[in-house]
Amino acid sequence: MKDCIFCKIINREIPTKIIFEDERILAFEDINPKAPVHILIIPKEHFASLNELPEEKRDILGYILLKARKIAQEKGIGKKGYRIVLNTAEDSGQEVFHLHFHLLGGRRMTWPPG
Ligand code: AMP
Ligand code: ZN
Repeated sequence: MKDCIFCKIINREIPTKIIFEDERILAFEDINPKAPVHILIIPKEHFASLNELPEEKRDILGYILLKARKIAQEKGIGKKGYRIVLNTAEDSGQEVFHLHFHLLGGRRMTWPPG
């Protein structure tokens, strides 16, 4: 998708610190981390948000979640705990309109979120 910052990251048009990549997904460090561990995990296929994900593409959600769990384990926060966030549309505060999960950890989280 032209003009999508995360598609540009996938295409290596914007530099980033890549944590994991395969044919379906990319995981990379958030440029403005909100926690000691803050990694974004995205499908390589462009969907603006969860609202635009077709039902038949649902498998990608579980695939990303289990990869997030694995990355959390590898980063040493698996046991202590972590938070996975999926902002969707305006009220959530979504800023980048390419579906992405935040993996956050390495500090105590608060609830409710702001
Ligand atoms: P959201 O508010 O859920 O749309 O989150 C978008 C996230 O993308 C924010 O946490 C930003 O810090 C992050 N972000 C924006 N541009 C970049 C970039 N070039 N590289 C890495 N992370 C980015
Ligand atoms: Zn995109």
